[in-house]
Amino acid sequence: MVIFGAPGSGKGTQSDKLIEKYGFYHISTGDVLRDQIARKTEAGILADRYISEGHLVPDEHIIKILGDVLDENREKMANGIVFDGFPRTVNQAVALEQMLKERGSEVNAVIGLEVDEDELIARLVNRGKTSGRKDDNPETIRERLVVYHDSTCPLKEFYTKNNKYRGIDGTGSVDEIFERICKEIER
Ligand code: AMP
Repeated sequence: MVIFGAPGSGKGTQSDKLIEKYGFYHISTGDVLRDQIARKTEAGILADRYISEGHLVPDEHIIKILGDVLDENREKMANGIVFDGFPRTVNQAVALEQMLKERGSEVNAVIGLEVDEDELIARLVNRGKTSGRKDDNPETIRERLVVYHDSTCPLKEFYTKNNKYRGIDGTGSVDEIFERICKEIER
């Protein structure tokens, strides 16, 4: 499944709970990139500038990284995968379909966490106080939200057309939101 939503919508928080309950394998492309940056790999050095500016890492680069993650962790994915922060463009969604098809699988559901923009900004500014993430500052947050609207939002239509998108109210307590997600998954 894909957990979908704007920066600050709670994808990471809810992914942690999904892993615990369903035993999914978690792939957060943001976490993968931050790990590559910390290890100063070639992929990390390339990604660093895009992340710092609040822009997307180019599709071909992130698609290659994702393919490697899928191949290197295959045996841990028997219970399913939760994709968090991927896909972020229609190109990436098409590539994901292809990559999963080649591996005998597919996206079963896309759960969209819907949160209004004022709350997203408040959450991200607040997270920035403790996250240590250099992209959690007001200027970069604004840029990330613009990128979300321009490049990522069209995916809602992409996944609505093939009847996979399920929008969830992403406000309230962490547990309330999780309950809504579980209802959708079990449905
Ligand atoms: P996240 O942790 O999901 O908020 O991602 C942090 C940053 O990593 C994003 O703002 C992008 O710069 C980069 N990133 C993560 N996932 C992707 C992706 N699927 N495509 C392009 N860039 C990504």
